[in-house]
Amino acid sequence: MMKKTDIIKLIRPNVRSLKAYEAKEIKCRIKLDANESPFSPLPADLVARDKKLFAALNRYPDPEGKALKKALAGENGVTSKSILLGNGSDEIIYYLITTLGGPVLFPTPTFVMYGIIARALGEKAISVPLDSGYDLDMDKMLKAIKKEKPRLIFLASPNNPTGNCYSAERILKIIEASKGIVVVDEAYQPFASRQGFLPLLKDYPNLVILRTMSKIGFASLRVGYMIADESLTAEVEKVRLPYNLNTLSQAMALMGIKQMKLVDATVRKITSERERLMKALSSIQGVTPCPSEANFILFRVSDPDMVFDKLLKQGILIKNMNGIIRNAMRITVGTRAENDLFIKALNKAVMEINREAK
Ligand code: PMP
Repeated sequence: MMKKTDIIKLIRPNVRSLKAYEAKEIKCRIKLDANESPFSPLPADLVARDKKLFAALNRYPDPEGKALKKALAGENGVTSKSILLGNGSDEIIYYLITTLGGPVLFPTPTFVMYGIIARALGEKAISVPLDSGYDLDMDKMLKAIKKEKPRLIFLASPNNPTGNCYSAERILKIIEASKGIVVVDEAYQPFASRQGFLPLLKDYPNLVILRTMSKIGFASLRVGYMIADESLTAEVEKVRLPYNLNTLSQAMALMGIKQMKLVDATVRKITSERERLMKALSSIQGVTPCPSEANFILFRVSDPDMVFDKLLKQGILIKNMNGIIRNAMRITVGTRAENDLFIKALNKAVMEINREAK
């Protein structure tokens, strides 16, 4: 009979050496760790009114997501054929790397799934450090592109976890210099003050725009989508699993798009809270926040591990980024009341740490 230890030997080495993405649930009162929206934009009675939806649970979902694609096409001013739907944009990252293969290049620190998925699929992952202002380091990027000839480049703008947009001219230079596909991941674009890259799609066939509904109040649905040249979307369609987007998610996402005014109102509340949070963070001695175009703020403190523990003791969960960026933490913008409680708790934590250090 096979032993447990033999099973491990069967695992492909590239998978065996991976570390799983940490998405554990930590009990807390105020959850500000995962870049979700604190608002659920659709009124519950509006959702419950969709009786037809609940009567069709015995059937597979629309495999093509026609209605949702049509709505997204209208919303973004593109054709349905240029859109591919994913179970979260995570899944589309998987599909893109499956379709194109590596090397896969991305600046770091950034969203960790580009590297994890590349490695899971046995492709070479190349990380190029950002410059000291968290913008693209053009010397390093262009050198790496020339040397490694990546088939795929992922640029998250606004970037997670740093919160800034990369300079548009630099992104453009990379699209022009690359002989592979450049994915501009605009997961946080709704919160940004600058225009995204969608208008450039028609001029650059190697450009892919990645979007998600997760950050604007629909994280539970797992709805992400890419927009690209129709010919490229058709190729990625070949690796998409049938029925990857369930009926409930398709229907709720469609409702969300039809109620974009309600969604936009929550986005505006979040960006205005972000500015208030930024001011409050800047005013705490020993806390240095980075400017943000997203729904979260990266900030530095002298002892993030201690701050994390002290906040959690008060029921507030934020993300400790210390392993990735020295002394850094990331806070997702919450409701006004949540942000106030967080600021109060952070003030207290920093003061206690200073006192204990003396
Ligand atoms: N891209 C970036 C930059 C992200 O930060 C995230 C979420 N953390 C995603 C993509 C994935 O989002 P989802 O799978 O929920 O669409």
